[in-house]
Amino acid sequence: MNKAGNDLCTLLVYNLSMKKEKILVSACLLGINCKYDGSSNKNEKILKLAKDFILIPVCPEIFGGLPIPREPAEKRGERVITKSGKDITEYFKKGAKEVLKIAKILKIKKAIFKQKSPSCGCGKIYDGTFSKRLIKGNGITTELLKKNKIEVLSEEEIDKINLK
Ligand code: SF4
Repeated sequence: MNKAGNDLCTLLVYNLSMKKEKILVSACLLGINCKYDGSSNKNEKILKLAKDFILIPVCPEIFGGLPIPREPAEKRGERVITKSGKDITEYFKKGAKEVLKIAKILKIKKAIFKQKSPSCGCGKIYDGTFSKRLIKGNGITTELLKKNKIEVLSEEEIDKINLK
């Protein structure tokens, strides 16, 4: 397992040893270097939620079998296509199923996901042309979780999360 995978497991085991409501969180928001370019989207506000919730880090793209680093990809309709034109939808679908499996095992009903991602995006995603244009839509994992009645919020909705 690579370093990001090890970090993810350590954080997961640590979280599970505590007794608070569990929330799925995009691992990159917690500082795990699982982004396509090997960096993270560390978000201090999200990390502060650990005072009140058990944050379960998930990265659907890694769970689906994609490496770090990897080629950037965007959703194009119901498919996910890399910048060079490779269809990698199946990795994204597999990762989404793995995240749903974790949610079911741990009876999790809420997720905070990274906006704009083809996996984790929640309400806003890139349009599939790699031109930074945004359209309305959800990432593949967000869609699957919502279909299974799991509430998904983006990190941009952190204030809503605090009010609950
Ligand atoms: Fe972050 Fe989700 Fe992309 Fe993984 S798949 S790097 S958790 S936005």
